[in-house]
Amino acid sequence: RIHLQNFKKTFGDTTVIEDMNLTVEDGEMIALLGPSGCGKSTTLFAISGIHKINGGTLHFGDKDVTNLPAQERSVGVVFQNYALYPHMSVAQNIGFPLKVQKLKTAEINARVGEIAELVQIGNLLDRKPMQLSGGQQQRVALARALIRKPDVLLLDEPLANLDAKLRLEMRSEIRRLQRETGITAILVTHDQIEAMSMCDRIALMKDGRIEQISTPTQMYESPASHYVASFLGNPP
Ligand code: ATP
Ligand code: MG
Repeated sequence: RIHLQNFKKTFGDTTVIEDMNLTVEDGEMIALLGPSGCGKSTTLFAISGIHKINGGTLHFGDKDVTNLPAQERSVGVVFQNYALYPHMSVAQNIGFPLKVQKLKTAEINARVGEIAELVQIGNLLDRKPMQLSGGQQQRVALARALIRKPDVLLLDEPLANLDAKLRLEMRSEIRRLQRETGITAILVTHDQIEAMSMCDRIALMKDGRIEQISTPTQMYESPASHYVASFLGNPP
């Protein structure tokens, strides 16, 4: 369970997140949905530990991780641009987090093989990222995020760079992976269809706060405000 309480984030004089509360249950996949600039990535970066938060607390289960650095939190992150290492092979990219942990090469190779099968890129391990399609790069980024078997998977607009057909395919693929691993996941997106089709619940954000949090059906059928209704009804 991820529990963010009274979360506050400022950059200089500007408050970006003010007093946010969010709980994600074990094994749940939740969407942080909202327009550009509402604070989705900022929230994700705070949970991953990339950003320090200015107020509030963050718990993973019973563990207070508020002041833990990113590498001591059990999280895997997939960034919008995938952030693969261009000079490394697919296998080296995926295994990198384990290499940092100084695991033995044989064990790294075994784990890389296993996770590559899970995301169905077992035949691409010797390629470089440049030699892959967008969807394949996406799978590599997912494999790298999952290799340490983290408690939490954080996805920031993971489908934004893909064409329409691949985006559809990867929607169900990411959901399959999330279900199979039982991992607790947060998906950041500005696309309401993506949020509705992939997630158990949606937190719709506006100007650094959560406007409504509910299942996709509840949100669609009983929007809490005009803002929610128009956001769901008017695809950008
Ligand atoms: P998008 O959909 O465009 O990615 P977002 O919801 O992810 O938007 P954030 O990246 O969280 O938005 O940004 C929220 C606000 O915080 C924006 O106004 C942004 O300009 C500001 N912001 C983000 N990072 C910084 C930073 N490092 N320094 C100053 N301001 C920042
Ligand atoms: Mg963002």
